[in-house]
Amino acid sequence: MHWADVIAKDIAERAETPLIATGISPTGIIHVGSLREAITGESIRSAVESLGKDVKLIYLIDSFDPLRRRYDFLPPEYEKYVGMPICRIPCPCGKHRNYAHHFVQPFLDAVDSLGVHCEIIWTSDLYAQGKFAECIDITFKKRQEIINILHEVSGKEPNPNYAPYEPLCEKCGRYTKPIFDTYKFPYVEYDCPCGHHGKADVRKDDGKLTWRLEWPAKWKIFGTNAEPFGKDHAAAGGSYDTGKRIAPEIFGVEPPFPVPYEFVQLKGVGQMHKSLGCSVTGLDAIRMTPPEVLNYLFLRVPTNRAIDYDSGMGLLDIADEYDRMELAFFTKEFTEAE
Ligand SMILES: [Zn+2]
Ligand SMILES: [Zn+2]
Repeated sequence: MHWADVIAKDIAERAETPLIATGISPTGIIHVGSLREAITGESIRSAVESLGKDVKLIYLIDSFDPLRRRYDFLPPEYEKYVGMPICRIPCPCGKHRNYAHHFVQPFLDAVDSLGVHCEIIWTSDLYAQGKFAECIDITFKKRQEIINILHEVSGKEPNPNYAPYEPLCEKCGRYTKPIFDTYKFPYVEYDCPCGHHGKADVRKDDGKLTWRLEWPAKWKIFGTNAEPFGKDHAAAGGSYDTGKRIAPEIFGVEPPFPVPYEFVQLKGVGQMHKSLGCSVTGLDAIRMTPPEVLNYLFLRVPTNRAIDYDSGMGLLDIADEYDRMELAFFTKEFTEAE
């Protein structure tokens, strides 16, 4: 049995209309490794579908995430955008709607050509539509319990000033900290380091939850049943560990079936990360590799195995192996082990 069928069987038994979520934070150049997440999500979706279930795959683009620093591939004038949401930063080439679109569009094109059937959802739209309002309200009311969970799971000292929600300063456009005791639904006040005193409405895109809270809040909003994610989130004390306690104890929902996946290494370069400019992007991978071969490369090994992506001779070997497998499949010579 293929690993995707094993996961699909578990999900199908627990949910009538299963939902699989996957996502990306397009704060920089997106690499071929992120395609693994999309392909993993799609393989589970199609496996659940083949069990006769009405299943949906959503792809969340975290367009409300802040730019954390000016990466080397960004021009010096981007220094002034650090701390702002990437959907409100201009696109570096001038051809896209904003920074988030600039970096995610080539990737979405790649995902599309791989035959991934997903609904694209922009996290910034969810905030603007007030979808997070209920969860944000809960985080103000249960802030002490959240601090305790983060302390217990991560083993770090409890931080009494921890802010699960960060208002966006209406003057300088950067995320800042709320003044907790001014909170009264739907407003919270803030004093920004820029000198501005303002008020944020949690029903609008006036601020966002931090990642550790935003992730389980999405599980509640969508009723997520399964989610593939990079192994960095799966580390002990990491955001899945805290999320799986925050989901039931703070938001009253069950966490999704976790599908952590290993990273994709570029042969001779090492692990790919979006803060590095010099790597193979999702689109480069598509240009160099036929979609069916790329799908095969990602799906032939379990998700917990690392993949060496070799854009040179190794890729030709994979293409040959794919051709042999395809031939074996159609001549009914393949065995379960293959
Ligand atoms: Zn652009
Ligand atoms: Zn400010």
